[in-house]
Amino acid sequence: MMNLSKEKENLIVMKFGGSCLQNAGAFSQTTKIIKNYIKDYKLVIITSAIKEITDKLIDFYKKSCEEASECDYIIENIYNIHKNLIDAIIDENKPEYNDTLDFLDENIEELSQLGRVVRLLRPSMDIQDIIASYGEKMSTFIVSQYLNSQDFGIKSQFISSDEIIITDDNFGRALPLLEETEELIVTKIVPLLESAAIDLICVTGFYGSTKDKKITTLGRGGTDLTAAIMAYSLEPKFNPRVIYWKDVQGFLNADPRIANQTALLKNISYVEAKELAFFGSKVLHPVCLDVNEKRSIPSEIRPFANPESEEFTTITKEVVKDEKIIKAITSIERLSMVTIESGTMISLPGTVSKLFSLLGDDNINIKFISQSSSENNITFGIDIEDAMKVSFLLRNSELFGKQWFNIKIDHDISLIAVIGAGMLHTPGIAGKVFTTLGNNKINVRAIAQGSSELNITIIVERKDCKNAVNVLYDAFINQG
Ligand code: ASP
Ligand code: MG
Repeated sequence: MMNLSKEKENLIVMKFGGSCLQNAGAFSQTTKIIKNYIKDYKLVIITSAIKEITDKLIDFYKKSCEEASECDYIIENIYNIHKNLIDAIIDENKPEYNDTLDFLDENIEELSQLGRVVRLLRPSMDIQDIIASYGEKMSTFIVSQYLNSQDFGIKSQFISSDEIIITDDNFGRALPLLEETEELIVTKIVPLLESAAIDLICVTGFYGSTKDKKITTLGRGGTDLTAAIMAYSLEPKFNPRVIYWKDVQGFLNADPRIANQTALLKNISYVEAKELAFFGSKVLHPVCLDVNEKRSIPSEIRPFANPESEEFTTITKEVVKDEKIIKAITSIERLSMVTIESGTMISLPGTVSKLFSLLGDDNINIKFISQSSSENNITFGIDIEDAMKVSFLLRNSELFGKQWFNIKIDHDISLIAVIGAGMLHTPGIAGKVFTTLGNNKINVRAIAQGSSELNITIIVERKDCKNAVNVLYDAFINQG
């Protein structure tokens, strides 16, 4: 009789980024890591394109609309990088060598044809996504064949993620449809994991496909998200953990370009990690934190160069209490701040929703919002890169551009966020923030509501950013 109470088997989903595959040395490090874990775990590997290939593919797409000769050069360069890598890592006497070269030739030929399609038709995001997906397709096939060609007997299976990940049709920044995806992963991946003939599954990162089978990409850095989706979908059958191998140790408690000191955060919760990601710490694709959190899947960010090191970050659902209430002081140094004032008493509350849907429809990411109590002005922060677009949208809108509102955009500001889940229940944090800044003669331009209640966000002039981060770091982390 089947034992229904059987414990779920442990499984690890590992994400390797482009620099983990860039040359023979990196491949042997990747292999060492795989061999180390495969002894004790079921393993699914998710891989990015080889370093810089995605940039080159996007460049190829862009140039395909212009000069044909330059496109040939880019394609040749992409071919050479892969061919040299294959020559360096796969023995030419093994059958995998020719299989891999044939695969490369086919992919390069398809890319050249796609370039011609772009030249003939008008450019479109969906063709850009098809082109960008080739980086992962080629790198992951190489990884899988390389492992099969080795004598240590790991039998690997290559899977292209468009077969298992269904997304919406927001090309360039698609989001997964988790229910549909889970069904496919359970149907196609679980039997492979249970098969005695397969030891390891190598899945392409970064892309999926729409319900009608058009390739979509998950946004830059999207391979992290692929790993999270895989763990999410396998969770009902296995006991998964995700390991993101990175060229950093993990999450730091401040930005090393700005703060004089930083320390590694060894344990943080998903809610805190999301705050860090939102306020500029680009360690992980931000959506993958949400996906992992949904099913309480623990994840680790570990340094690729030093895989056995105890210095890494573990992210869990539970908020890990330690003696420090404030875990991190993060910052976005370059930000634009938009202020909309209404001289009259046009009620802003109704207007605010119109304002944010106008910006939201154009994919403008709002970093903070602050509204005066008189309700006749509202201030919000956006990426500097979006400032022109926002200015254009507002000035051309019926409601905001005409007689009722006055619009100001300021480009020399920075945002600082003091982050920690414990502050919710601790009075006096905000007071301490303002006293610290005041004592150091730092002028606070605005106070804002961040993305949640786990932070206090303040806006300062850019010239004060570094100083503000350092005095807050000192007050809350050194002395906190
Ligand atoms: N190759 C893609 C990029 O460069 C996805 C990734 O690396 O995660 O954005
Ligand atoms: Mg097996």
